[in-house]
Amino acid sequence: MPELAEVEYFRRQWNAGLGGRVREVALHSRKRVFRGTNTRELIRCLTGARLLGSIARGKRMLFRFSSANATPAQSWLGIHLGMTGRLQCAAVEFRPGKHDHLVLYQRDRALVFQDARQFGRIQFDHGETPPLWWDEATPEVSRMTRGFFDTFLARHARPPIKAVLLMQSGFSGIGNWMADEILWRAKVAPHKQTGELTSSERARTFRATRFVARESLRIIGADDSDLPRTWLIHERWSARGKCPKHGMVLRRTTIGGRTTAWCATCQSSRAKPRDPVEVA
Ligand SMILES: [Zn+2]
Repeated sequence: MPELAEVEYFRRQWNAGLGGRVREVALHSRKRVFRGTNTRELIRCLTGARLLGSIARGKRMLFRFSSANATPAQSWLGIHLGMTGRLQCAAVEFRPGKHDHLVLYQRDRALVFQDARQFGRIQFDHGETPPLWWDEATPEVSRMTRGFFDTFLARHARPPIKAVLLMQSGFSGIGNWMADEILWRAKVAPHKQTGELTSSERARTFRATRFVARESLRIIGADDSDLPRTWLIHERWSARGKCPKHGMVLRRTTIGGRTTAWCATCQSSRAKPRDPVEVA
């Protein structure tokens, strides 16, 4: 599942089309990715519109267009990648395959949204301001303040810290590997109840959260290159993965329904992990 850095990477794939006009829209209107979306209106407003800009927030993206055939004059295309969604920029001769649910043809290129499993979603609206479904309330994790972080943790004191880091209402775009990376860097046991974190554990978790979000946005978000070999991510996928610090085989626990990889030495805690740990 794409996490915020992968989302940023895919958002940039359409940058080649910035300023360009959409000549033709091709879409699969009956597909699940368009649930609740008026695809006729989407085609009417985006045909002839220019791509003006885009932003990513957590796992979602919002593309802003001028609107050639509608008043008010701005259109908004929201894209959630779900599990398998991807954006690419293809040659203008591109012919959509069965998983290419939306293609915006410009003069020199085709902007493509592909989603094989269709857990992703495309939303559309037009208006002067971003649509109501675009949530501005949740901060970008890379710019999160200590105040927001502390308040959010205090409000979710019962679940284990790993489960809280996966809550999208606070940590928008943080998924399973990023949450594991954060806690490993912060030296905090993932199963520890959030309200039981010491003040220095909270401080380390806050710093690690911003660091992992910023670095992965900078590195993966820019060009899909690999994170440094010193990161946990390279070890966490394999059952024999080892802690990059001292080579201990990583432990695995299910927390909040997700497999968590962690180092029992780096992330020691007096609280013994229950297996699996349920979210309260
Ligand atoms: Zn370790």
